Amino acid sequence: MYTNNNGTGDHTIVKRAKEDRYQHHDYYNIDELLTEEHLLARDAVRTWVKQEVTPIIEEYADKAQCPTHLFKGLADIGAFGPSIPAEYGGGGMDEMAYGVIMQELERGDSGIRSMASVQGSLVMYPIYRFGSEEQRRKYLPKLGNGEFIGCFGLTEPDYGSNPTDMITNVKDDGDAYILNGAKMWITNSPVADIAVVWARDEQGIIRGMVVERDMKGFSTPEIKGKWSLRASITGELVFEDVRVPKANVLPNVQGMKGPLSCLNKARYGIAWGAIGAALDCYDSALRYSLERIQFGRPIGQFQLQQKKLAEMITEITKAQLLIWRLGSLANVGKATPAQISMAKRNNVMMALEIAREARQMHGGMGITNEYPVFRHMMNLETVLTYEGTHDIHLLITGMDITGLNAFK
Ligand SMILES: Cc1cc2nc3c(=O)[nH]c(=O)nc-3n(C[C@H](O)[C@H](O)[C@H](O)COP(=O)(O)OP(=O)(O)OC[C@H]3O[C@@H](n4cnc5c(N)ncnc54)[C@H](O)[C@@H]3O)c2cc1C
Repeated sequence: MYTNNNGTGDHTIVKRAKEDRYQHHDYYNIDELLTEEHLLARDAVRTWVKQEVTPIIEEYADKAQCPTHLFKGLADIGAFGPSIPAEYGGGGMDEMAYGVIMQELERGDSGIRSMASVQGSLVMYPIYRFGSEEQRRKYLPKLGNGEFIGCFGLTEPDYGSNPTDMITNVKDDGDAYILNGAKMWITNSPVADIAVVWARDEQGIIRGMVVERDMKGFSTPEIKGKWSLRASITGELVFEDVRVPKANVLPNVQGMKGPLSCLNKARYGIAWGAIGAALDCYDSALRYSLERIQFGRPIGQFQLQQKKLAEMITEITKAQLLIWRLGSLANVGKATPAQISMAKRNNVMMALEIAREARQMHGGMGITNEYPVFRHMMNLETVLTYEGTHDIHLLITGMDITGLNAFK
């Protein structure tokens, strides 16, 4: 046991010398399909997760605190905007590298991956893709190096699955817009320096803008009482006559295309990330099955336990193949939103089911924080819901294959 020396002055969390015995699982030699750059990125993030995340994550999740001291480390390992060009503070890598990094982070914890997803895909990406050159230069380098933390405000208290009907709005006031409304369930909002916010203008058009922490009338109350993503901080965004300079409006996008293209980017990363959580649960269950003796033999020798393990690695392998193909398509700009929906939906449910089975395999120990499975299981309940719920992604696939809209 040793004191957390994170330089934040917060010594309430004691860092446990918790051993991370995770081993690599690649049943179909999918590594052969990755480049050296992908493998280097993966190994660097895996080492960082073993050193910085595993020893502390159970304690932070237990206390429902966010390990904000990790933000800088996430920046240093290139987890913020891996596929955004390096000159704008990103990693300058391809979409596959981005995915591999998200997978390794979520192997540690879905909340840690969420921090990185929001910063890179939901904050840096829209500023890079839709921002002016001035906005890019002003915000992106600081977001890339972790000096600024960002959040993404789309969901509202009354508009979750159908954000198109949002009521947060702006009114023209000369060189600024006056912003009113509220956003709900916003990852990182209580600690964010800036928020990318989507609001309706007087013509009814949805516009994106960068709201800065010190703008008058802007507040970010924390949402407490979460049983899931406990090591990730979540809050609201409240706007009371906030004067947002027109220079902060993203000039190059109008309508739902803006937020939806960010969500596609993030959902793609989640489809990778969920495999990381599944791998960690499988890894823990496999090891436990070889070490836990009942009836005079390792439980892994019983057919029922082997069935669970065999099915887990089968499902993980299918998900790895699905995501590898999606990554290949994304690298050439051909991954469709519906393909991304299918992968997000499939891989997250796959991970959740594996977490539940792995929990059973650990018996009573499976409900404790001695093992990572229950934390992953609770986290994955959120991952199943955010960035489009499990049901909404099914409707997207349904609409894509039939051409008929079943949303309304
Ligand atoms: C921890 C956490 C972090 C989050 N972070 C962010 C963030 O950073 N930024 C952000 O903008 N949002 C964020 N979200 C919000 C998230 O994206 C929403 O919770 C999600 O989109 C679902 O919206 P809702 O919770 O309002 O559920 P609802 O939309 O009310 O859905 C409730 C249920 O109804 C179902 N349903 C809805 N419509 C239909 C339909 N047409 N047909 C069939 N079933 C339907 C849904 O599938 C769901 O099961 C976060 C959420 C959580 C929990």
